Amino acid sequence: LRLNPPVRAARPAHDVLATPVSDAAVHALVDEIVAQRMEAAEAGHDESAFFAADLGAVYDAVQTWRRSPIGDRVELFYAVKCNPSPMVLHLLSLLGTSFDCASVAEFNAVLALPSAPAADRVIFANPCKPASFIRAAANAGVDMMTFDNADELHKIKRAHPGAKLVLRILTDDSKSLCRLGLKFGAPLDTCASLLALAKSLDLNVIGVSFHVGSGCKDKAQFADAVWRAKKVFGMAEKVGYDFKFLDIGGGFERETFADMSEVVRESLDLYFPEDEGVRVIAEPGRFLVSSAFTLATSIIARRKALDAAPAATPAPAGAEDSPEVMYYINDGVYGSFNCIMFDHQIVHPYPLTIGNAPAPAAARPAFPPPPNVQLPTDLTLQLGYADNERASVWGPTCDSIDCVRSLVHLPRGVEVGDWIGWGEMGAYTLCAASTFNGFDRSPVHWTTGGDSPNGREVRRVLDAFHSTQ
Ligand code: PLP
Repeated sequence: LRLNPPVRAARPAHDVLATPVSDAAVHALVDEIVAQRMEAAEAGHDESAFFAADLGAVYDAVQTWRRSPIGDRVELFYAVKCNPSPMVLHLLSLLGTSFDCASVAEFNAVLALPSAPAADRVIFANPCKPASFIRAAANAGVDMMTFDNADELHKIKRAHPGAKLVLRILTDDSKSLCRLGLKFGAPLDTCASLLALAKSLDLNVIGVSFHVGSGCKDKAQFADAVWRAKKVFGMAEKVGYDFKFLDIGGGFERETFADMSEVVRESLDLYFPEDEGVRVIAEPGRFLVSSAFTLATSIIARRKALDAAPAATPAPAGAEDSPEVMYYINDGVYGSFNCIMFDHQIVHPYPLTIGNAPAPAAARPAFPPPPNVQLPTDLTLQLGYADNERASVWGPTCDSIDCVRSLVHLPRGVEVGDWIGWGEMGAYTLCAASTFNGFDRSPVHWTTGGDSPNGREVRRVLDAFHSTQ
């Protein structure tokens, strides 16, 4: 694995950007590539969009987890689906993280890493698998897998009878951005009979898993889910199992993590006290990668807004004005911004350049945002410009659903050729981007985090690994 472009030394950090994390390095990387792109655009080529990714921010998220109230109790199994970039997987594996995979391609990617974990550091956390995938897991030594229905048990009996099974239960996800319970999870009143069936098939069920929904907004959902899991442990005992495994899934967000981890710890202590010897794992995705990726897009076209232009996505609550200007950028909802459709995200632009000159650094938000600060869902981040324009922002394809923001403030003076940055773009973005209409996926450029403490740690971990190769 190579860093591309090679790791750069950080430029001096801008004061306003200084946070404990290495966002200065990612802003410096964005600036550098934007400057190169603007030069190239003069010559008539390469204004293409790109991601700048900071491994220092991934490292920081892992440390944040480990220092939290659940850090010494709950093992990390990173949800690969969220962002399967090999550099992210490699670093996480070196940091001792295990992996939640949902397909053969995902566990093959993990097991083929230069820092490949042992197969028992993978959980195949997809309750409805094709039989061929179960056989492939058996061949790869991936034994831990979830189920939530009777047919899955019969399939597993045929394809991988020695598997270590985890019963995925249904929990309340009504306050989450993505409600996974619409598709997965056994309701509590079906669990006893599923466990009895598993027992009659002589299958090895080791415990319970749940997922409170991705982007969980209500900590009570975690508390309730742990309580439900405890109930199912009781049902298992009645049919002769002695469960010692609990998987609390994903759903964590950086902004609310302090509160969530507190509640999870309390619930674990209440229902699964440590002396009972239950191994607890979690499958965070978004929490580990969201802040690490910034997207830079350039403005490829601009039009005066049509009167009463129909908005493809509803205007945010309280925003009654219509846009004055329409900007067209070179990534959209068919590309990296698929998170707007699939992951219900509201994305926040900030100008990297204005009038084809660098925007004042003070205009930039600090990423990741400080703990317990939710990004606003209204017009815009407070960018501090006096003279703003109401704008809509559109992707590059021919489709009118390709609307990135239907109404947002951008400073007056932004024009064709200018660059717009988007923070918090690491989760459920590049992994689901298409090339619809012939638009390439935005490539990723990496930094290890510059001269920040996180950056130095990342390089120490990578160097230590490479010196053994
Ligand atoms: N585990 C499973 C089974 C999932 O389906 C998902 C997301 O869809 C995750 C973990 C990761 O969730 P999040 O990114 O919200 O942490």
